[in-house]
Amino acid sequence: MSKLTPMLKQYFEIKEKYPEAILFFRMGDFYEMFFEDAVKVAPLLEITLTSRSKYHNQDIPMCGVPYHSVEPYIAKLIKAGLKVAVCDQIEDPRTAKGIVARKVTRVVTPGMVISPEIEDPKSPLYLAALTAKDKEQFGLAVLEVSTGDFILTEINGEQALISELSRLAPAETLISENAPGDLADLLKEMSLYHTVFEEAAFEYSRARSVLINHFGEYALAGFGVEDMPLGLTAAGAALLYAEENQEQNLEHVDRLRCYRLQEYMVLDEIARRNLELFTNLRDNSRPGSLVSLIDLTVTAMGSRKLREWISYPLRNRTQIAERHESVEMLALDGLRRSDLREILNGVYDLERLTGRISLNRANPRDLITLKESLRRLPQIKSLLLELNEGQLRDFGWKLDELTDIADLIEKALNDNPPLTLKDGGVIRPGYNPELDELISIMSDGKGWIARMEAEERDRTNISSLKVGFNKVFGYYIEVTRSNLDQVPDNYIRRQTLTNAERFITPELKEWESKVLSAEEKRVILEQKFFEELRQDLMAYVSRLRETADLIAEIDALASLAEAAIKYDYVRPELLDEDRIEIVDGRHPVIERSLPQGAFVPNDIILDNESNQILIITGPNMAGKSTILRQVALIVLLNQIGSFVPANQAMLGIVDRIFTRIGASDDLTRGRSTFMIEMNETAQILNQATSKSLVILDEIGRGTSTFDGLSIAWAVVEFMHELEGHGVRTLFATHYHELVELAKTRSRVKNYNVSVKQWRDEIIFLRKLIPGGTSHSYGLAVARLAGLPSEILDRAAEILENLEREEIDLSGLPRPVRSNSGRNQDIDQLSLFTKLEEGLADEIQRLDPDTMTPLEALQKLAELKKMIQ
Ligand code: ADP
Ligand code: MG
Repeated sequence: MSKLTPMLKQYFEIKEKYPEAILFFRMGDFYEMFFEDAVKVAPLLEITLTSRSKYHNQDIPMCGVPYHSVEPYIAKLIKAGLKVAVCDQIEDPRTAKGIVARKVTRVVTPGMVISPEIEDPKSPLYLAALTAKDKEQFGLAVLEVSTGDFILTEINGEQALISELSRLAPAETLISENAPGDLADLLKEMSLYHTVFEEAAFEYSRARSVLINHFGEYALAGFGVEDMPLGLTAAGAALLYAEENQEQNLEHVDRLRCYRLQEYMVLDEIARRNLELFTNLRDNSRPGSLVSLIDLTVTAMGSRKLREWISYPLRNRTQIAERHESVEMLALDGLRRSDLREILNGVYDLERLTGRISLNRANPRDLITLKESLRRLPQIKSLLLELNEGQLRDFGWKLDELTDIADLIEKALNDNPPLTLKDGGVIRPGYNPELDELISIMSDGKGWIARMEAEERDRTNISSLKVGFNKVFGYYIEVTRSNLDQVPDNYIRRQTLTNAERFITPELKEWESKVLSAEEKRVILEQKFFEELRQDLMAYVSRLRETADLIAEIDALASLAEAAIKYDYVRPELLDEDRIEIVDGRHPVIERSLPQGAFVPNDIILDNESNQILIITGPNMAGKSTILRQVALIVLLNQIGSFVPANQAMLGIVDRIFTRIGASDDLTRGRSTFMIEMNETAQILNQATSKSLVILDEIGRGTSTFDGLSIAWAVVEFMHELEGHGVRTLFATHYHELVELAKTRSRVKNYNVSVKQWRDEIIFLRKLIPGGTSHSYGLAVARLAGLPSEILDRAAEILENLEREEIDLSGLPRPVRSNSGRNQDIDQLSLFTKLEEGLADEIQRLDPDTMTPLEALQKLAELKKMIQ
């Protein structure tokens, strides 16, 4: 058996501590991976698997990546669901005795990514921790390691937990070793990556002491998180995990904020998807989503802030009005708005730069970028202070210009430093006398060579004498063969070439060692000063974070103002009562996809009195879904503080938007659809309040006609009766039979999206008008779609037969007497059915061909009496 080399011994000792991670072991200019790690990652990274000396008589599999471009490789492994432990040399190999000391300096996991190469600047990357009590109570904490954002909450019920997790979509979620099994299952089902973390971290007292250690006892008390013990426990676990993996205290995590879900409009995952807030339904990409339309921010911070606003629409009227006010101010002042946006445009991602400072990973360029961004703050401040009273002006007062930090960086660093510290050139001349002297020795070098060369030529009379440099001999004097007899005595021979010989002199060597050591000393000094600067900057982290947050908010507001003008939106009027009234509303995304002016605007009124449930009928392609979604989007835009696509909007505050889309409209899911649809509908019934808005689009479509119709019918009834007061609902359906409901349900109203039929053609008017439709125009739509006329003719025949049949059946779904216990409804319904049967019989008996106009009129009056 071969002996363990010291290097392998060190490797094993370190690897043992990180069994789950791929160990990146720094050796010279490479990070090397060995054994199973190498075998596993070589194909993933598309690098060659080689082998090194033997261990147990076997070749050691190995592969490596250059240290200076390691980040993209790490990114690939993280995306593949692996963790990476980065092990660095922590002493200078030149001065090390024996084997170089090494240590893992960071562990990169999906939630702990802080490299600009990996992060998407527009979306946050969350590390979450989850605790549970009695399967009903949950604590959730979320940390954004690169920016330092740290929030916690407590959640009641699994549904709410799922909805919050899907809203946050954490990159990694920590659960305790002894967490109930269904928690892990739930995360798996939601395709969320989870990590099982030590049980002790999830103990309340331990977690609390981790937090106190980090923030201090008073600060923690000041965060007002003590009444959320489950959330607090989760927060402690998350922080501990982050600290352990970064091997350091996270300075920039300087505050912990608790939030309550009740403060925000609830949007479950289904609503977010159906409303296409962040991705479209077609291919789940960003184009065509609401965010892609209204995100006109110019900074990465602003973009993340706006995203957060869309995820968490407000419910507090004062806060909404405050944002409206700011948006209006900037919307009306085009000049200032464009000035402001132009200045903001040069502000880099302060949050993430600050994060890098605090994680000690900022490079010289990062700090220059930071300085240049900070230099723009005074302009932003004075611009805001010119505005009238209001939130923006307050931001102006609050905005810290951070000139001291910019000055500090400017004093220390060159304006255009190299990316790394290894060749010097980072620290500005004049910063330190010792450094200046070294630099002048180095730059004097050239002059000195020229002077020495000239002097020696004079002295020796050899006009071709040259001073040169190579790596092996350092500086030398070169004399061609023909002049060798003139070489003075003090020259010492070093190297013989074909045509010349090379010499040194003691003077030359003395000078050489001065220059070379100056070079080395310079790099060491520069590293030291840079490190000091970074340390000094850590003291400013919380001021930087506060400023970054203000900038994010200002940018997001300016973006909403820009959108309001660019897309011609209007400021909504906020109402206290539960009423939604929109005049000439538009669908923000669809209107932009059509030629200017082609979109037909529509009005809508919804309240909890006579306009609570609107049944919207109309043929396929009429524009039903569009109206439903546009109402939901207008409500949502209002509550993020935005203006809305309408001519006028009077809006009460909505606590929750539900959307359910019938199976065949739900393109993205391959799952058994009808079940899901019913399941999702049931959830609404359990959670809706009189402040909610429900959007039901073609519910019941995933099954046979009569089943579907009956279900749709029953759902409408239920929405109407919910908790005795009902819930505001927009119900689009092609079951025109549903219009009958308006006769028996006082808060139901019929609308249809009008179309005109002209000969065989159908013309879509896109206008929502009161009243139901009696006709589905299916054949006309099919003709429009290009179905051959033989098929259409035959279909028309069949339809006619069916329709006759349908009249015999009275055209209504026959209610089945069941034990539902709601006899009153059924009686009303059957009464109505009998009545209509009578009418139908009466009409059947008529023979219009033999009637005089007068007889016809009399008959009509009789029929009318029957239904009064
Ligand atoms: P439905 O749900 O009734 O089948 P959609 O709402 O899906 O119809 O609309 C079908 C298409 O009609 C949309 O993709 C859009 O191109 C167009 N459309 C819908 N509403 C309007 C409108 N108000 N103005 C102009 N075009 C519209
Ligand atoms: Mg539709």
